Amino acid sequence: MFRARRFRTKLLLFMMAPLLAVQIMMLLAVLRLVQQDVTETATESLSIGVAVAEEYLSARRDQLSNASQVLASDFGLKQSVATDDEATILSVLDNHSRRVGAKVAAIVDLDGDILAANAELPGLDTTLLADADNEELIVKTLMVGNTPHQVFVVPLKAPVTIAWVVLGFTVDTELAARIETLTGLEVSIAVLNDRDREGRSTRAFDPLAPLNTVYTHAAGNDEWLSIHTPFAAHSNDVIVVLQQSMQAVLAPYLSARRNLLLFGAALLILAGAAIAWFSQTVSEPLRVLGKAARQMMSGNYSYRVELESGDEFGRLADSFNAMRTAIADRERHISHYATHDALTDLPNRTRILRDLESVIGSGSLKNSCLSALSIHLNKMAEISSALGHSANDELIKLAAERLRQCSGDRGTVAHIGTNEFAVTLPGLDTNQAIDVAETIQSALEQGNTLGQLNIVLNSVIGVASYPYHAKDANELLRFASVARVEADTGRHKLATYELHCAAQFQRRLRIINDIPSAIRDRQIEVWFQPKARLPDANIVSVECLVRWTHPELGPLSPDDFIPAAESTGSIIDLSRYVLTEACRAARAFSDAGYDICVAVNLSTRDLLDDQIESHVKNTLTKFDVPTGKLILEVTESSIMEDVPTSVAVLERLRSTGIRVSMDDFGTGHSSLAQLRQIPMDELKIDKAFVDTLISDPHNEDIVRTVIRIAHGMKLEVVAEGVEDEESARRLAGMGCERIQGYFLSKPLPIDEFTTWLGNYQPSELSERRSDDRAFALAAANEPLSGVERVISGEK
Ligand code: C2E
Ligand code: CA
Ligand code: CA
Repeated sequence: MFRARRFRTKLLLFMMAPLLAVQIMMLLAVLRLVQQDVTETATESLSIGVAVAEEYLSARRDQLSNASQVLASDFGLKQSVATDDEATILSVLDNHSRRVGAKVAAIVDLDGDILAANAELPGLDTTLLADADNEELIVKTLMVGNTPHQVFVVPLKAPVTIAWVVLGFTVDTELAARIETLTGLEVSIAVLNDRDREGRSTRAFDPLAPLNTVYTHAAGNDEWLSIHTPFAAHSNDVIVVLQQSMQAVLAPYLSARRNLLLFGAALLILAGAAIAWFSQTVSEPLRVLGKAARQMMSGNYSYRVELESGDEFGRLADSFNAMRTAIADRERHISHYATHDALTDLPNRTRILRDLESVIGSGSLKNSCLSALSIHLNKMAEISSALGHSANDELIKLAAERLRQCSGDRGTVAHIGTNEFAVTLPGLDTNQAIDVAETIQSALEQGNTLGQLNIVLNSVIGVASYPYHAKDANELLRFASVARVEADTGRHKLATYELHCAAQFQRRLRIINDIPSAIRDRQIEVWFQPKARLPDANIVSVECLVRWTHPELGPLSPDDFIPAAESTGSIIDLSRYVLTEACRAARAFSDAGYDICVAVNLSTRDLLDDQIESHVKNTLTKFDVPTGKLILEVTESSIMEDVPTSVAVLERLRSTGIRVSMDDFGTGHSSLAQLRQIPMDELKIDKAFVDTLISDPHNEDIVRTVIRIAHGMKLEVVAEGVEDEESARRLAGMGCERIQGYFLSKPLPIDEFTTWLGNYQPSELSERRSDDRAFALAAANEPLSGVERVISGEK
């Protein structure tokens, strides 16, 4: 609101300011011109006034001269002067002066004495009369009393000059009034005092101003334009002052100025109103758009900008509305995917957690319960590496669909991790939830058609219930997932959350967390267990096995932490460490004069590590150990994760002279035929078969058969887990090349092992009896366990 108003004000000011400036400038210019014009006209009328006054005074002089000469030529006057008849003289003078308007009339004799006069005359200047000798007429301005008079002196001739006729006319306000009437100006007669140039006049004027020049002069509240001119050519003492009041001069200008100002103000008001209307029209759309933008900012996308105009603002409003719709769509989309998984369009973890919280928080479960399933799809990484990521995505979508079908309207399915789902089942207790879980598992295992393939999806599910197990939404999901991990660790498909689960889960987390520092700080040690050759029982190799005594958790079995290290990837660092220690030991054995190989266990991740080969070679070189002295033990399952890569890696390692041993043989699912493609030199029969060699005749048959087949494949055989001499002798009798087990020694730290080795006395191990029980049992055709599949796969 404030911004819009500011813009409108700015626009208004922006348009008004120049208009105002132009207006004022024009007004000033016009007024100046008018004032100049008025003043010039007044000055001109003063100059004209002077000319008119001069013209009038000159005409008056001529007229009065004539009147004087008429008197001087009067016969009666001449006669009465000649006869010195004063009464007649006075009568003539009186008549005549009244007729012509003279204030003074006199006859002066040639000596300058007054013969007769109708008024007091100051002594006539004799020089004036002397001049008159040669003149027909003398005109002078004289002061009579305080009043200036224009005096005409004419000779009275009979026929020679016998006297002088003098006529005097007052120069007074009457005369000034007459000139005023003629010029229309203020006129006054002033007498200048020669000594101090002070003027006496009815009006104020500047006596020092030059003659016949217009000047301004202040008097009273007014200013006057004035000019003065001599009353007569012969007299500079008496002057005629013509004046005009500036107030009067400027009166028409002032009214013009008032009219102009009024007109300008009216124009400005009109223009202001027009501009205000215009700026309002221009800023209104902006105000509307601003309001709409603020609505949008506050999340209200339903506010439509309505501008009924076809101009740029109208088009802007259309674009704005289009933008509003697009942003609303995009925001809907974004907020949907903030709570949903993009691949399956199922709610994500945040959403399911929020929903659970609101169900639990609403208190609607008072007498009922709520269960949650945590579902993980197994082997998705293998499927992805075999069929590609898009197939993986398709399978996830198929699984999501299956989960939706199985849970129906009993629950909600959420996709909470790459291969992880959750199903919440309101109103279902743990047992009912287990039923749903089993339905889900069998649906996934039924097979899923992906193109031409039918893919079985294996899953692990954990179940937890509220309020039985968990006290809130967060715990419910977490406990279901703890139960799932527990199931996975125990190689089960399904598990319910048990109270001890949490403790085990914590322990596992602790182990995972501490492995890197345990390797760095050498808390994890490498121990050695000997393998002896049959039948002479000489020690030909040692297996390197890790041992970890955790400062708080105590001694940990490799089975406790090796799977954890595999799951986080720290197994790679662990294997490098074991390899280094193995090579260090090999160097030491060799230096001590023993001809002993070292065996190191590798896991899947090691085989897929693209630096494994260079690392193995570098470590051997570092300790100067020949490649022939290193055995790498790999399990069938570790190779099966990625057969082509593992096979290639093992082939390249073998080509350098390193030997490969197949560990735990008999526990996996592959047949010997499948194992044929794997590059190896040695086969280790799992201790599960060796343990019970004597007690279980079936196992003896299996072992014997495996040995025979292995030999057929040009593989040497190691029996692990040999705990007694009898088993060792049996194995020797079966042609087994090597034994390993507690019968020889438990795994020992390097020092103890070195001592053990120094004390070791080999004694020949050969079979005491020569009955061939294996063939007898095989003939009885009893079912075989464990390696049954292995042997049948061989057929
Ligand atoms: P494995 O490679 O099959 O190792 C043989 C296991 O059998 C060892 O258990 C050993 O102590 C045990 N054993 C040896 N002789 C006998 C016997 O006469 N009777 C009985 N009952 N057991 C015997 P351990 O050391 O607990 O190792 C368990 C597994 O941990 C190993 O099985 C191996 O898979 C893994 N492992 C151990 N060290 C490493 C390692 O450095 N790297 C990798 N990747 N895995 C390792
Ligand atoms: Ca092993
Ligand atoms: Ca083994």
